[in-house]
Parts: sequence; structure tokens; C-alpha cells
Amino acid sequence: MKNIVIANFPRFNNQIWLPVLWASAKTYYERNGERVNEWHWEPSLLDIYSEEYFDDICDRLRKLKPTIFAISLYVWNYKISHRVAEWVKTTFPDCLVISGGPHQYFKHDMDWFKDKWYIDASLPGDSYGEICFKEILDNYDNGKVDWEQVTDLHYPIGKQRRVQRSRKTMTKKEERVYDYDYTVYASQAEYIEQFVEFQRSKTPHAILLALLETTRGCPYGCTYCDWGGGTSTAVIKRGLDKVKADIDCLKQYYLDFLYIGDANFGIFEERDIDIIRHLTDRPWWSKQRFKVGYGGFAKTANRMDAVREIVRLDVEAGLSQQKEIKLSMQTLDDEVLENIDRKNIPLDIQLGALEPIARDNKLPMYVEIIMGLPGMTLDKFYTDFNILGDRRLSLQFFEWILLPETPAYARDYRERYGILSIEKTNGWTDYELHGHANIVVGAKSFTTDDYLQMLLSASMYRMLIQGGYYRNTIEEILGQGVRVGELIRTVIEEFYYVQLRGHADQVRKDWQHILDNREIPCQTIVANERVYIGWYFVALAFHNPEEFTAPLINFLQHKYNIKLNTIEQDQKFTINCTNFNKKYLKFPYVYDYTKDDNSRHDFDYFLSLFQHFSESGKIFSGNKKLLGVI
Ligand code: SF4
Repeated sequence: MKNIVIANFPRFNNQIWLPVLWASAKTYYERNGERVNEWHWEPSLLDIYSEEYFDDICDRLRKLKPTIFAISLYVWNYKISHRVAEWVKTTFPDCLVISGGPHQYFKHDMDWFKDKWYIDASLPGDSYGEICFKEILDNYDNGKVDWEQVTDLHYPIGKQRRVQRSRKTMTKKEERVYDYDYTVYASQAEYIEQFVEFQRSKTPHAILLALLETTRGCPYGCTYCDWGGGTSTAVIKRGLDKVKADIDCLKQYYLDFLYIGDANFGIFEERDIDIIRHLTDRPWWSKQRFKVGYGGFAKTANRMDAVREIVRLDVEAGLSQQKEIKLSMQTLDDEVLENIDRKNIPLDIQLGALEPIARDNKLPMYVEIIMGLPGMTLDKFYTDFNILGDRRLSLQFFEWILLPETPAYARDYRERYGILSIEKTNGWTDYELHGHANIVVGAKSFTTDDYLQMLLSASMYRMLIQGGYYRNTIEEILGQGVRVGELIRTVIEEFYYVQLRGHADQVRKDWQHILDNREIPCQTIVANERVYIGWYFVALAFHNPEEFTAPLINFLQHKYNIKLNTIEQDQKFTINCTNFNKKYLKFPYVYDYTKDDNSRHDFDYFLSLFQHFSESGKIFSGNKKLLGVI
């Protein structure tokens, strides 16, 4: 029996995903393959091992002796996957090593197979992996495959191992009639159970996550996106009965998180609403711990009713991890949206549909902003703050990871917008030793200094607006008609750059190192601790009440003529390293800055609380503000 082994290494060993690619490809092959009895699909147990388990991975592979070894490449497992693939090829020279996933460079780098000498063939991330496996297994002949028989496959030719693409491609019609209507988890329930048991025995501390794909493909073509089932494609869907059977199967496990990996959930209206109903039908093992996330919702106004119903059901059942309602906007600027070829339902239509649910359930609404998009400028950046701030919407910021298979990676696109990206091999926000990513930090429309200012502004926003820092003072300023973007810009440009010039110069120096050195994450130092620049002001406020907070408040007081009483009131409610984790009485108030029994009072712990509050939406709802009142 020939052995196929698939590895999709996790980002962290405390977050383990069920092996969906393995389950889907195996099921597809059992339905469509020609040589089913010749192949043994080794259960995908390698998927629990992260970088630090390299020796365990090799021990396991040594016993398995793979005939075919396939890796799925992402930003976070790029290095470990290559390292293992090279080891496999060295140890088992006859084994065919195949790569897939969104983080591959062969479309732009003709030396891909020369540098990665151990890879025999690579499949684009947006091609159907199931078809690739079927065609490889059916055409395998004694260590060789006629790669021209495999749809979309790229393989090396000649001594130089130049990249050649198979002429066999998938037509739109083939996409539409593709055999997609099967259960993934339920078909492989026995093995999924085995996987779960194995995971529990090896990494009992880990949480368990699963991806449920009910549709595949996306009709849009946002230039920054590399979506699993392809972009600018037809959307194919699984039968409702199959989706429900998979949900029933998943309900048997202690899942912590289910990610509905559809790009446009809600596009099939009643069917998609039915899926949410089925999710909430019978209880999962823990209402507190089990949560749901979504790839994306339908993006046409005529599906807004369906999206609203999905969100309503989700909120009522407490399904989502985030206690906030997300609006789909990457920026509000039309020119930037055009540059990235992004279509959004207009903000007011989204608000009109979702605001009543938010209001009824006392939930805040937020918008995800992608930083560094082509055409963005500092003025536009602050305008987004203003418009969204006027509507009391919260903002979350993400760096733009330039993925190699996206339209934006193409040379002419990068040249047109002057996109400048930097390679990072040890993570961006934090050290992540097995990651690899290209982060966009400049373009024709903004310099790297501008980008740093955007990062600092996001950090200031997190502290002042989301963190509730000197909340009454900030409310008083906004009450004067000052807009959020104006306030943040003023504080950065007139206070931070001027009055804290020494700090600002240090951060600029660190930024230059970050730009120059691919091994340094986007961090600076506050009180001898390394901190992501996006959390910089939170760290300053925590560590340096004298050096930072006092002059900041002084500046705000004079600039906006704030009542002394307001400031004094805020001072009492503000957390920093001197009072964190303490509870004391100061007439007429009781201040309780303790969160739990944990005796830690360092910044990392404080920040983890802050991030948890921020991510769960709590920071922007209710009265509890971590930098303000707990
Ligand atoms: S970002 Fe969403 S809508 Fe745009 S192409 Fe990707 S999956 Fe489709």
C-alpha cells in the first residue's frame, strides 16, 4: 500500500484545527478516485505539531515512510513546513513532495524549484486541492507522475528547474459541476475522532478549532486577497443536508471555535439562515467556550436582509466570539477602494440593517481597517477616524500582509502604486519564529514615516478611545465638536512629536531598524520591555504616569480648556503600574483594580487583559474600561 501524508502545521501548539483538507481530499478521492485500494491516507496527526516539535515530526515521518508528502503553506508555518519537506526529501529521496496553500512564490519567482530543490510540484492556493490529489494519485507510476495530467500544477523542468505550468486547467463549467456535495467531517468521523483523541493526549492544554466550508469561491477579486476556493469565481455550494450532517458530527467534540469559511455567507439567503438555525438548534458542549467566526458576509445590498437575520440569530444565541457587530469596510475612501477593487455595501445601508440589533442587545459596532492600502494618505487615514468616530463606531487595525498569490503581488500592480513591502521572518506584532510575511509599509501615496504615524495613531486611538483612558476628559473634548481623527492627529503631531520629542526620536530610530532588518518585529522598548508599536501608548501610559500622562493631560487641558474637576475625576479612575492589581478605599469611592486571583501585576499581564477586553468587544461596551475603571 502506498502512503500519502498531508501536513498542515499549526500556528501555535495551543490552537489545533481539525484536519479539514485531509478529510475533504480523502473523501473526494474515495468518491472519484480510480485507484482507491492502492492508497493509504495516513491520518493527519502531524497537524498538532508546531515548530518546537521538529524531532517528533521527523520520528513520526520516519515510521510512516511517505510515498507522497504534501504541505500546506501559510504565513505562520512557512519555515517549519519547508524545513520538514527538506528533511523528508533527504531521508526519502523517492517520496514526492508537493506544496499547496496561499504562501508560495512560484508564480513570480522562476527559481522557486531551484531554491526549494526538495519540492517536486506546487499547486496554487486558489486551485482545488481535492482534484490535485486525485489526479496525482491516479497518475502515480513508480515514483513518477505526468504533471501535465494534473490541473493547474506547477512543476520544475530542465537542469535549471524552471517553473512550468501544466496546460490542464479547470474551466468555469468544470467548476460548476465539480463534485462538491459531500460531507467532510461526517464522512471521516472515525478518523476525526482518532485525531481528537490524539490531540487531547498530546496537547491537552490546546483549544480545538474547526473550519466549516459550506460554499467555495468568491465572485469578487479584491487585490489583497487570496481566498482558499479562488476569487473572481463562481460560488458553488454544499447541500443543506450535508452541511447539517457535518455540524452534527462536529457537535460531538469539545470544539472551542467553529469558523464558517465562506467568503459571502448569506448569499444563499434562506439556506444560510437555516445553517445558523441548525447551529443553534441543539446546545454545544459549552455556551461560554464554544464560539463561531465568519469568513465574510454577502456584499450586495439585496442580501442585507439575510445578513441581518444571520447576525440577529447569532447575537441572540451568543455564538460569536466578539461581542461586537462587524461592518465590512477596509477604508471609507472611494479611491482606495477602487485601487483594491473592493465592493462594499454602503456604510449607511449596513448601519441601517445592523444598528437596531446592536442597540437592542447593547452591542458596539466596529470596522476593520487594513493599514497601508494603495492610495491611502495621512489625511484620508484621519478622515476614516472622523467619519467612523462621528457614528460612534469602533475601529480595529490590521497590517497588510502582501501574499504572493494575490493580484496585488503582481509586479505591474506593485509598480503602479509604488508598493513597498518588507520581509519579516520572525513575526510582526510579536516574535513568531516560524512565520514569514511581507508587510506593506509604504506606497506612492504615503511614506514609511507616514506609515509609522498611522501605527502610532492607531496606538493612541486604542488608548484614548477604546481604552477609556481619561474618559471624561476625552468625552468633554469630543463634546466640543472635535472629531476623533482631529483629536488623535493633534495629540500625535502637536503633543507627542513636540513635547515628547525624545521618545518620538527613539521610536523613529527603532522604526528604521525594523525597516532595515527582517528579523526584528515591529516593536519598540518601553520600560525595558519590548512592545508592539501598536500598543506603544498603552505601555507608556501604564509605565510612565509621570513622564507621559501628566504632560499629556496638561496639554489636553490647555488645548481644549478642560474643567479641572473633570481631570481630577479621571485621575482617580486611571490605572497604571502603581495601582494595578490593587483594591483600596479612598473616600467616597472604592477603587478595585483587581481582575482575578492572579497575583501578576506586570505589563504583559495587563496587556493581555486589555487585548482580551478589546477583542471580545467589552472594552467599547458597558462601563468597564481597562485603562479607566475596572
Ligand atoms: S476579500 Fe472577501 S470579497 Fe474580496 S475577494 Fe477576498 S473573499 Fe472575496
